Amino acid sequence: MRPARALINLQALRHNYQLARQLCADKALAVVKADAYGHGAVACAHALHDMADGFAVSCLEEAVELRAAGISLPIVLLEGFFAAQELPQIVKHNLWCVIHAQWQLDALEQAVLAQPLHIWLKMDSGMHRVGFFPHEYAAAWQRLQASTNVAAVVLMTHFSRADELDSIYTQEQFELFTQTTAGLSAPISVSNSPAVLAWPQIRSDWSRPGIILYGSQPVAMSDTAAQRLQPVMTLQSKIIAVREVPAGEAVGYGAQFVASAPVRVGIVAIGYADGYPRHAPTGTPVAVAGCRTQLLGRVSMDMLAVDLTDIAHADVGSEVELWGETISIDEVAACAGTISYELLCNVKRVVYEYSTN
Ligand SMILES: *Cc1c(COP(=O)(O)O)cnc(C)c1O
Repeated sequence: MRPARALINLQALRHNYQLARQLCADKALAVVKADAYGHGAVACAHALHDMADGFAVSCLEEAVELRAAGISLPIVLLEGFFAAQELPQIVKHNLWCVIHAQWQLDALEQAVLAQPLHIWLKMDSGMHRVGFFPHEYAAAWQRLQASTNVAAVVLMTHFSRADELDSIYTQEQFELFTQTTAGLSAPISVSNSPAVLAWPQIRSDWSRPGIILYGSQPVAMSDTAAQRLQPVMTLQSKIIAVREVPAGEAVGYGAQFVASAPVRVGIVAIGYADGYPRHAPTGTPVAVAGCRTQLLGRVSMDMLAVDLTDIAHADVGSEVELWGETISIDEVAACAGTISYELLCNVKRVVYEYSTN
């Protein structure tokens, strides 16, 4: 069997959730959209079921998968519904529903529902993606109050720059949200992972941590809380070939790496078809048999090359970690010009193995 694997440490996930919850307000939705950022939503939700206050996903289909797997905690649909026809399903599965646009509000008012819904009303406080503008917000809230299809309302907004420690934009967004919601008596929800880590003074009733549950740091912080996050996924494979490449010879497609001195090259059974980023250049860190070394040349679809020159004990069969405990996914993401979120969501084809210790 091909040795490419994603090891998922569910104990680390539990640890990170607990840490996120300590850092933020009283309740935290565990964001498990996009198959729990590539970790497996059902397994992750089950692992958190006895401690989480609720879950958040991006759509009805993702929520139904969790309900079918026996997840009974609250689940928020972060983009609500995409067509009014979904509303009966949302009621049936007892889901909490974001309303971010006028057409959704109209559809909700006009629907004939078996039961009223728990609504999260989204404000656009500066991301300018979705949500009601501040000048529309109170009116939207009034309409929800007046609708017999609404059981309860949470007021929410989303930060666009919470990972920028030297920007006051997050505080400005929060201030606008606070001013706009003054007098609307309902719980509030604002913080994503970077806000939970970097803006602890911003409190809300429900925070919405995603990426930190999986152990990646969305903000470069030397501080203690961020250091206590534990990586949940270890992406690994094995060396399947070793060769000595003489000085002047190239390795891989396009001769992107040319040996300036004799180099001992290990070929690893993992590539971009598994979600390893093709844009990771020579020099991107990897660990072989526990020792840090580097990628050489272009990543192929099923294979990539690493430098074994200084790891004499490494050979065919040696274990390779692409990211995890030894190699931070944030470092790999930086080398590849992307973010951990994208790397994690892209993982595919590999065998998933779950552990609880
Ligand atoms: C994805 C998402 C989150 C989680 O973001 P992280 O940066 O992963 O913590 C929170 N809120 C909303 C509305 C989201 O879409």
